[in-house]
Order: sequence, then C-alpha cells, then structure tokens
Amino acid sequence: MSRRVAGVLGAWLMLTVIAVALVTTVNFVRLRNSFEAEARTLHRVVSQRADQHDAHLTSLAAVLASPDHSLATFRAVTEAVLRFYPRITAIDAISFAPVPNWAFTTRELPSDRHDLGELVAIASNLPAGQTIVLAGANDTAAYHLVKRLPEATVQTNALVMTIDAKRLMDPEADLPKGMRLALRDPSGHELVQRGAPPSLGGVMPVLAFEKELGSRSQPLLLRISRSPAMSELLPFMANALVATLMGIGVLLASFVQRERHAAREARERASFHEHQARLAHAMRVNTVGEMASGIAHELTQPLTAILSSSQAGLRLASSPSLDPDEIIGVLDANVRLAKRAGDILSRLRAYVTNSGPVPERMSLNRLVRNVAELVQSDLDRRSIALNLHLDPDAPSATIDRVSIEQVVHNLVRNASDAVESLPQERRTITVATFFKDGSTGIAVSDSGSGIPPADLPRLFEPFFTTKPDGMGLGLPLCERLVEAFGGQITAANVPKGGAVFTIHLPLIAEDRKEAAE
Ligand code: ADP
Repeated sequence: MSRRVAGVLGAWLMLTVIAVALVTTVNFVRLRNSFEAEARTLHRVVSQRADQHDAHLTSLAAVLASPDHSLATFRAVTEAVLRFYPRITAIDAISFAPVPNWAFTTRELPSDRHDLGELVAIASNLPAGQTIVLAGANDTAAYHLVKRLPEATVQTNALVMTIDAKRLMDPEADLPKGMRLALRDPSGHELVQRGAPPSLGGVMPVLAFEKELGSRSQPLLLRISRSPAMSELLPFMANALVATLMGIGVLLASFVQRERHAAREARERASFHEHQARLAHAMRVNTVGEMASGIAHELTQPLTAILSSSQAGLRLASSPSLDPDEIIGVLDANVRLAKRAGDILSRLRAYVTNSGPVPERMSLNRLVRNVAELVQSDLDRRSIALNLHLDPDAPSATIDRVSIEQVVHNLVRNASDAVESLPQERRTITVATFFKDGSTGIAVSDSGSGIPPADLPRLFEPFFTTKPDGMGLGLPLCERLVEAFGGQITAANVPKGGAVFTIHLPLIAEDRKEAAE
C-alpha cells in the first residue's frame, strides 16, 4: 500500500470516528432531553392522580361530618368513586368505640388489608384530619391511605383507602424499550416495578430520573431509568452516510491537494528551467569574455590574409600583363577568407545568444570541430595539445547544437585546468566521438592527475569545486543540458592516468536509420 493511499485511509478513518462520535453525542443529548421531558410528564400525571385520592378522602369525610349524614349516602359516594377510579380498590371506615369495628367495608378481607387492631392503633395516634400512607400487607402492589376523622364525626373515626399502585401508571401503556419504572413507598418497599433492568449495564450510558410525587400525603418515590439501545445512539444508516460523506470529502481534499502539488511542481520546474537557461547564458558570456583575445587573434589571421591577398590583387591589376585568371584566384581566396571570418563570428553569436534549445540533426564530428576552432587559440596560448579522434561512423544526433557545444566546451576547459600544471610536453586533451552498441557520444579525456575517488560521486553536485576560484557549477550545468535531450554524462579515471568525461546521447529513429545506412 502506497504512503498516499495509507494517508487517505488514515484521514478517512480518523474523520469518520470523529463524525460518528459527534453523531452519537448529538443522539445521546436528544434522547436524554426527550427522556427527561417524558419522565417529568409522567411524574406530573402520577402526582395529580395521587392528589385525587386526598380529594376523595376529604369529600368522604365531609359526607360523614354532615349533620344529616347517613351511611346510605356514604355508600353511594364510595361506590361512585370505586366505579370511576378502578385503581382505588377499597374504601373502609373504622370505628374505635365502644369496641373497635369496621363501620363500613367494601370488600371481604382482601389479602392486602391489615388487621383491624393494627389499623386502629395507627389511626388513633394520628391528629384529627391527618392522612398517612401505609404499605399494603403481604408485599402486594397496594398501599393504603389512613385518614383520621375529626372527633365530631360519630360512629367512624378513620377512613382507609386502598390503592393499586400499578394502576397509577397506565398499566396498558407500552413502555419504550429499555425503560424501567419503579414506585416506592416511604418505607422503601417497592410497590411497582415495570420494565427490564438495563441489559448492557456498564457499556451504554443509563438515563435516570428520581423524584418524590408532588402529593403531600403520598410522598412515593418515582424512579424511571432507561438505557438507550445501541441502534438509537449509533444508527447504522446515519453512520454509513457519515462514513460515505467523509470518504468523498477526503478523496476530494486529496485530489485538490494533488492538483495544487502538481501545479506547484510545474511552476517550480518552469522557474528551474528558466534559472538554468539564465545560468547557462551567463556562463557562456563569461567564457566568451575570456575567449575574446583568442577570437581576436583568430580573426586577425583571415583579415591579415585578406589584406595581403588584396594588396597582391591590386599589384596584379596594375601590371600591364594582366592575367584575369590570377585576379580571379586572388578574389576566390579573399571570398574564402572572408567566409571563414564570418563563420567564426556567426558561431560566436550563436554561442552567446540566449535562445531556447532548438533540437536539430547535427553531425557530432562537425560539432566537435566547431568547438575545437573556438578553443584552439586559448589552448595554443596555454601550450596544450588538442587531439581529435573523430569516428567516421559516428552518426548525426538530434540535439540542441549550442547546448552540446557548451557542454564539450566546459569539459575541454576543465581538462585544460587539469593539465595546465604539467610539463609542457605532457599537456594533452583528446576529444573523441564514438558510435558503440547503438548509442553515440563524445568523450573528453586529459592527461592530468585524474579525480580522487572520494570526489567522484560529488562532481555533479552544485557548488562542488576543488579550485580556489571555481564556482562548482560547470558540471551540474553540463549534466542538466545533456539530460534535457535524454542523454547522460559520466566521469571516470583513465587507467593510464587522467580523467575522462563521456556524453552519451540517445538516437531517435531517424538518427538510427542514418547510422544503419
Ligand atoms: P569548477 O570548474 O568551477 O570547479 P566544475 O563543476 O566544472 O566546477 O568542476 C567541479 C570539480 O570537478 C572541479 O573543481 C574539479 O575538482 C573536478 N574536475 C572537473 N573536471 C576535472 C578533470 N578533467 N580532471 C580532474 N578533476 C576535474
């Protein structure tokens, strides 16, 4: 897996995890808010229902306290309450005197009812008008409300209302999955319990609500808890959508980044090429400056020859025995010499002009001869012998003439520097062309002391130089110029002493055709 693919996958995974965590958090907050709203509503409804019990007890007490009260009226009211409120399962009246007895009962000894003696003991200790909660007997879901009546009420001293706690909370209503309801009486006894305990305890967060009912007489504790299902917090479709969107986002970002990177690289390449062209031009101009005196010398020769030949022509023209053939010969020589001077100047101009590379088919032998002509006077001045070994089979190559001339020129200058300190008779530079194994090229070798092996790998690094006034830019520039045509330049030491720099140039189809002919 490439580093790029790994990076894209890593970014996608990280963003997906963050986005899923966000979705989960948002879902959790949403669930918690709706849970709290539901729990508060339930608490309010149950509290209101509990308050109704107080209201019924108060009106029943009022019936008993009225001056014309009759048990028949009491019974009628009781039956109406029992009919309309099925959660109230019994309403009983107790009398303390003369012997404790049930003044009125609605059921025959239900299993949740306490002993009469027990109830009398509890009720007789209550201040008049007060109501308390009493847990149902035998661990049932029922609880009782015991209300002490004012002394003024004859025949009955207390009312006992039995309530089925299960029905306080709509037994028919479906509980959402994972919801649990519990109602406890003040003694801690659990009257009702609905719903399963959280099965994923510890893994998923549990939402909880716990509050006493708002009724003063029935401070029952309502506890609601809920553990959200995994699918509610981490909905598959939402997560798949998030993962897909993140994937698309990361791919887009990586595409945009790649495009930007490519554009930057192209800009850098363009500016590098421009820089390189400027450097090559600067070096050429610099070299030409150095060569100026040699070139002047070079031009002096044809110009002097033209002068003396023209003087000879003049003499011939003024002689009485004028031979037209001799005049033609003199003029021919002048034309040849003037052409030679013109050639030197146009080569110089082509070399100095900062034109872009123009690939053209060019004989390597001719190219080497051109360079030799340019450097000859300089080498003569430094008493360096230049040998040309031109392979007659070396084919033409498609190259930018000026660039490759500059490369050969640089190599010859380096070779001159390498041999300059030798005794005069050993100062030799050889420029050879070759055609071998289907590739062609030019090799520049010298009789100098060669390149120390430690320097060999660094020769083409920019600014690597061992010369006190060197810049270390010549060889890197040569390498760039040769590589621009798909070629290669190498450096090595010659076994019998000295260094050899070889330019290998590729042959395009047409060059090969010519080579094969
Ligand atoms: P400069 O000539 O400014 O030093 P170059 O890039 O042309 O920069 O050459 C780098 C170094 O390569 C030279 O300083 C020299 O040490 C080494 N070098 C180049 N040509 C030769 C050669 N023909 N013989 C020995 N050393 C050479």
